[in-house]
Amino acid sequence: MRYCHVLLPDKTEPVCLPEICVEEKDVIQHGPDVIISLPDLPHPPQPALESENTPSLQSILYGKELLLEEIQCTWEELNPFLRAGLVTVRAGLHPTKNGYKCRRCHNSDPARFGVFFCARCQKDCAYCRHCIMMGRISTCSALFRWNGPPSSFSPHISLHWDGIFSKGQKRATETIIQTIKEKDELLVWAVCGAGKTEILFPGIETALQSGQRVLLATPRTDVVLELLPRFRHVFPEAIIAGLYGKSEEKQILAQLVIATTHQTMRFADAFDTVIIDEVDAFPYTAETSLVQAVQKGKRKMPPRFISPRRQPIRCKSVYKNTPFP
Ligand SMILES: [Zn+2]
Ligand SMILES: [Zn+2]
Repeated sequence: MRYCHVLLPDKTEPVCLPEICVEEKDVIQHGPDVIISLPDLPHPPQPALESENTPSLQSILYGKELLLEEIQCTWEELNPFLRAGLVTVRAGLHPTKNGYKCRRCHNSDPARFGVFFCARCQKDCAYCRHCIMMGRISTCSALFRWNGPPSSFSPHISLHWDGIFSKGQKRATETIIQTIKEKDELLVWAVCGAGKTEILFPGIETALQSGQRVLLATPRTDVVLELLPRFRHVFPEAIIAGLYGKSEEKQILAQLVIATTHQTMRFADAFDTVIIDEVDAFPYTAETSLVQAVQKGKRKMPPRFISPRRQPIRCKSVYKNTPFP
């Protein structure tokens, strides 16, 4: 599929459309061409939601950047959203001095790109090998993003947990709540078994009650599977999704997302509060692309918590304003 920059009859700014969606009255400014060959368009202002029939696409795309295969809708269905500016499209790979940069996983290492014969283009296409497990992004791939009004979440969520915090844990929970309110950053550094998960509960409750969207990113699938039932038990009213390689909850518009750090690559400008569990653990420490993926997933200036895995036994303190590793 080739793309064009098109000036629509009643608009002053061009939009990017697949060739198949261009109509006679549209004025083509660039293309049709492979999407990577088109210059980037500035991000358009957010239009008003014009139709009542949008929630399904909004719930799939809001806060994410996805391939067409992941959206699972036809060009006919997508066309009105593209023309209205409610959905924007950009190339999945960006050309650089040394080759490409993948806009989903931020990989720019030439050794992590390959070439294959592309059935879509009927010629060789370069693709990102680094995030291939999430669906192939090649030079002809487009990423789609929701540009309509944000989804809103119910603030009627309360914490159902009757545990008792120790003095140190209480201090940690209060600092976390304060950090969320101030949209600040925080490093929580605690010994193994110190109750790091539980001390997050009140802070997450504060975030959810103020309508925030929260990401809890952790290095491994087994940790996601362990945390999910615990969070569903203490926040029964919240919509919670667990994301990992084989998760079937990837389409759920959840207010609290518990995900492996790799799954955060699909998100863009999505989360008000981002909590990174075991920030000193593999693969987060070894993959700068994961740090960039988490950065892409958060909204501008959210509060962020960082929880290391290995700690000195005697260290139980909560440190504020610690630089992000
Ligand atoms: Zn990639
Ligand atoms: Zn191709």
